Amino acid sequence: MALKLFNTLTRSVQEFAPLDPARKKVGLYCCGPTVYDFAHIGNWRTFVFADLVRRTLEFSGYDVKHVMNITDVEDKIIQRVRENKTTLREFTGQFEAAFLDDLKALGCREPHQKPRATEHIPDIIALIEKLVTRGVAYKAADGSVYFSITKYQGCGCHYGQLLKLNLDEMRAGERVAADEYEKESVADFALWKARVPDDGDVFWPSPFGEGRPGWHIECSAMSMKALGETFDLHLGGEDLKFPHHEDEIAQSEGATGKPFVKFWLHGAHLLVEGKKMSKSLGNFFTLRDLLARGFTGREVRYLLLTAHYRETFNFTLDGLAGAKSALARIDECVGKLRELAASPTSNLQSPKPEEALVEKFTAALADDLNISAAWASVFEWVRETNKRIAEHAFSAAEAAAALTAWEKVDAVLGVGTKAETEVPAEILALAEARTAAKKAKDYKRADALRDEVKTLGWVIEDTPKGIKLKKV
Ligand SMILES: [Zn+2]
Repeated sequence: MALKLFNTLTRSVQEFAPLDPARKKVGLYCCGPTVYDFAHIGNWRTFVFADLVRRTLEFSGYDVKHVMNITDVEDKIIQRVRENKTTLREFTGQFEAAFLDDLKALGCREPHQKPRATEHIPDIIALIEKLVTRGVAYKAADGSVYFSITKYQGCGCHYGQLLKLNLDEMRAGERVAADEYEKESVADFALWKARVPDDGDVFWPSPFGEGRPGWHIECSAMSMKALGETFDLHLGGEDLKFPHHEDEIAQSEGATGKPFVKFWLHGAHLLVEGKKMSKSLGNFFTLRDLLARGFTGREVRYLLLTAHYRETFNFTLDGLAGAKSALARIDECVGKLRELAASPTSNLQSPKPEEALVEKFTAALADDLNISAAWASVFEWVRETNKRIAEHAFSAAEAAAALTAWEKVDAVLGVGTKAETEVPAEILALAEARTAAKKAKDYKRADALRDEVKTLGWVIEDTPKGIKLKKV
């Protein structure tokens, strides 16, 4: 089934087809974290969305190369390095490691390449030189190198591909040095920032003088190095559309004269408890904050995946509690299927997945990642499966087929099932002692041991295949 996605570039839902003539390889770039602090839940919405896109492409049979940069030098980082009186690498290293831990906790597949900006300074300089040579970048009196929007437009290029910009109000030659600025401040932006005392030790030599790269040029240089001058998919949060992504297009197309990206996908904003997240409102959460409240990465992932990526989503703690019970329903159903499939009559050679679930799920995703419909197909399957289990209508082979179907769709959802709880050695020893007492017909002792196990939080169930231990 053809996958359709909303392309910000054309403002329409389009059938996805990769550039690869063999229609197999797909290049995907997602702007990575700026490692100056722990990523918050709004950031995580974007990364879980990127993971969903990647998994959906892989599910559709594509061979995806997923690249995510690490922004380890830009305005905010330099400010924090200065405030913390530390070195750039030491400061960014701790947040990069924390980010990768959190990414794992959220069940995201690790990108194939994670280039750091500071390790691509020669590529960045080469790209800026190309822009200078082509006449679309210039060195200003402050020693920095800027991108000229007027010159770029003069080459027949279009600035404002991702959103409508009022370029008439722009005064030619006006410049913006900061990495982040508003739409109203559209102006020539910095590619290379000349060294200033506040930069401390953070500078590199270059043909334009000592300095450091601007944020936008980092992504153009690293994405094209990893994926080529034109590649399939570029993702990010919608807050990055302007200026970051628009500037990425300008720098890349200004240097190569070729289209930069075929599909631009943007994830919508996240509200927390109905409001824009802010530290002063007390609704600002990092993943670590949520884990400290007893939630799991799996529950957070589930909740972030319940809304369509183009809809503003209201993330709430009540919603997280709901995620816990929704996942418990899946776990219970899958657990029962596992028991049935493991029964002695089971034929586990190559169980055929249940067609209905996989078909509905695939159709939902193909429709611009309609995740609500995808989850609806999962919970309809859970209901039906539970009904059939209650009616004893499952053979072992059918249970195995149902499990295969679940595993297939979970390759996209990535929520897995709750890890089997390991039985502590102490409980196991008591349970074994009870079995021995029963064998010796010492029922009094057997009952006492069962009670002891119970007080420790475990229940012993006798089954035809022996005992089973369950956590209360
Ligand atoms: Zn970027």
